[in-house]
Amino acid sequence: MTTATTPAIDLRSDTVTRPTPAMRDAIARAEVGDDQFGEDPSINRLQERAAELLGKEAALWVPTGTMANQVALRTLTRPGDDVITSRGAHAVWFETGAGAANAGVQFTEIGENGVFSVAEFLDACKPRDHLILPPTTVVMIENPHNRAGGIVFPQDEAAAICAAAHERGVTASLDGARLWNAAVASGRSAAELAAPFDLVSVCFSKGLGAPGGSLLAGSAEMIRRARRYRRMAGGAMRQAGFLAAACLHALDHHIDRLAEDHANARLLATELAASDRVRLDLATVQTNIVCFAVTDDAPDAATIVARARQRGVLLFALGPRLLRLVTHLDVDTAQCQRAARILREVIETPSAP
Ligand SMILES: *Cc1c(COP(=O)(O)O)cnc(C)c1O
Repeated sequence: MTTATTPAIDLRSDTVTRPTPAMRDAIARAEVGDDQFGEDPSINRLQERAAELLGKEAALWVPTGTMANQVALRTLTRPGDDVITSRGAHAVWFETGAGAANAGVQFTEIGENGVFSVAEFLDACKPRDHLILPPTTVVMIENPHNRAGGIVFPQDEAAAICAAAHERGVTASLDGARLWNAAVASGRSAAELAAPFDLVSVCFSKGLGAPGGSLLAGSAEMIRRARRYRRMAGGAMRQAGFLAAACLHALDHHIDRLAEDHANARLLATELAASDRVRLDLATVQTNIVCFAVTDDAPDAATIVARARQRGVLLFALGPRLLRLVTHLDVDTAQCQRAARILREVIETPSAP
């Protein structure tokens, strides 16, 4: 049994990682300057490198993925516009209503399990210049999809949706907070995944293990406009190169290893799915996230979280009977095996009457 002195196995999110010693070294050695003057060499290097990796003309540093999504919406919409996205999208569920508050947009959520088809998009797409309908001006795809359990959006469908959108004068935006995971899982490059989209956001603070940092990438013209909205959101920074150095280090050292996180997520999922009190479709476990439901004869999610915590395993309740585990570079295979064993015991022990 885990004792109180063993560090917890923290599977709440891949945002909980601490910089490795080598990353701290890179941070300490970072060349910095005033990024609002465009004079931070580390930020400039990161923006150029990421733009190239994402196959776009330009990229813009932003402190968080939420701000990247918000700046993208400001850049691509006008107040009153309609944004079509997947059901359960981060921009709708996890940004405290920012899309409505900052860009003044409304969202139409479509599809199932984090994905949707070109037919579903066309069904929901509203024309411009209609007397009463709100004009659809953006389609936003989340890849991989967080709330749907790290599922990778089928690339052929994404390309067809973006093509249909462009034909109708609708822009396409990619919430790629974990795009690096989607690339490793699908065997496609990040540039290929980003190619059909006008703007793409990526995070360095998730699976890549940096202490912070996101980027928005797109055409030089769009990024020039986005820079103003970053300033409006209060996200223009000064010597941000300390963070950029961590992100550059992550690009060099933490992408290929994402395959280990995916294998650990599969291990956790396989063990949990073997319990008759767990509802988990293994086909949805494609990256580093495992979402699962528990049956009515298991304790509820809050009880499972509390009991697991006492035994040194941290996880997240997404709903009354819905839970989430996320693997990352601060948990190894042995810890995931132990966590799976402990979770099985917690889930299969009936609640006290
Ligand atoms: C985490 C996440 C974000 C936002 O990132 P923050 O840096 O936490 O603001 C955006 N989109 C998705 C899909 C995410 O998982």
